[in-house]
Amino acid sequence: MTTINASIITIGDELLIGQTIDTNSAFIAQELNKTGIWVHRRVAVGDVYADIRLALDEEGSRSDIIIITGGLGPTADDITKPLLCEYFGGKLVVNEKVLAHVKHLFEKVFRRPGPILERNLKQAEVPDVCTVLHNARGTAPGMLFKKDGKIFISLPGVPHEMKGLMTNEVIPRLQEAFTMPAVVHQTAFTAGQGESQIAELLKDFEPALPPHIKLAYLPNYGMVKLRLTSRGENKEETEKELAPYFDRLQELVKDFLVTNKDETLEQVVGHLLKMKGKTLATAESCTGGYIAHLITSIPGSSAYFNGTVVSYANTIKENVLGVKHDTLETAGAVSEETVLQMAKGALELMNTDYALATSGIMGPDGGTPEKPVGTVWIAAVTKERTETLQLHLRFDRQRNIMLTANAALNFLRRFILANS
Ligand code: ATP
Repeated sequence: MTTINASIITIGDELLIGQTIDTNSAFIAQELNKTGIWVHRRVAVGDVYADIRLALDEEGSRSDIIIITGGLGPTADDITKPLLCEYFGGKLVVNEKVLAHVKHLFEKVFRRPGPILERNLKQAEVPDVCTVLHNARGTAPGMLFKKDGKIFISLPGVPHEMKGLMTNEVIPRLQEAFTMPAVVHQTAFTAGQGESQIAELLKDFEPALPPHIKLAYLPNYGMVKLRLTSRGENKEETEKELAPYFDRLQELVKDFLVTNKDETLEQVVGHLLKMKGKTLATAESCTGGYIAHLITSIPGSSAYFNGTVVSYANTIKENVLGVKHDTLETAGAVSEETVLQMAKGALELMNTDYALATSGIMGPDGGTPEKPVGTVWIAAVTKERTETLQLHLRFDRQRNIMLTANAALNFLRRFILANS
């Protein structure tokens, strides 16, 4: 099976100084990977003529497909278009279709007052040696060049525009130009154990995999995604061959398995609540509403999520959720007693079947010898049942918040399952 190799070149000084995080490469790599194209190199260069040319030479000598993003805009530092024109031996000409599109965007969509600036109209100039890729979401078109059997594609840097072009223009053209291998992914997702503990469970499984089946560990704040990828000539056969390996993988991690689909913890919890026709409320101190944010980022969550109280101050814990003054005085805000009362208060206040509460010390300050930074209490309750969990985290504030949110959602998931 031949491998089709791709390189991604991202252009822009802002990428090199760390002002912009290169999310474009991640998206492009994922999309190419899905279709069976292997991204084997990623290069970032500044808005420097010689550096861009060198990157084109080098990647052109190493890959079948070279995808370039950035540097196409109407500002002076955007030098990619004239450079590409020269590199592929063409001259810039006005493309009437692009010109009409630019005018349409400015007049009908952006509705900018005054005449369209010359620099915006110039977006319609493209090298006469390229195939123009329609950018429905913006003014800078994508461009496809062919040289020595290689395909070079230049896309705008704006992520929203680049994504539209990748999906609607680039992938279909690449699928036409190359015979792709079938690539099949199967993803299992575990929570509550670190990457090394999971690796220990899979220590005999991974080395026994055939060379064309790969196992990837994708850890993320207390969760580990395990992705098996297989490549073959035929999709159906590749799927059939991968199935027993995926079954075995799930069996080995079954105590920590959250789902065998490519979905998030908040989606899994959402499905569970929806399936059971139950509702949820949260009371969040240390997570500041982040759990509610995760839950409500799932479309349709209003069917099972009633709301949250961000009870950051003790007065809110007391006055809104009904935590006893005494408890706050004696046990403290970060305690099993308080977090339980918070959850019960939320359950009653928002009249739900389940409630989840968090209270903890996220750092960098606020720790004491008895309750150091990273001490967290979580409670899950129904009318009849309560359960609590204590965490001892040891990271920075941001990471502690993320870990608490995921641990709380996983705790709730287990609580719901145990309650059924
Ligand atoms: P514009 O018309 O806005 O000038 P462009 O094609 O010239 O578009 P850039 O000027 O390089 O692209 O970048 C436009 C925007 O896209 C900027 O906000 C930039 O930070 C962002 N951007 C550029 N490259 C990337 C990347 N690799 N990953 C994420 N964002 C990016």
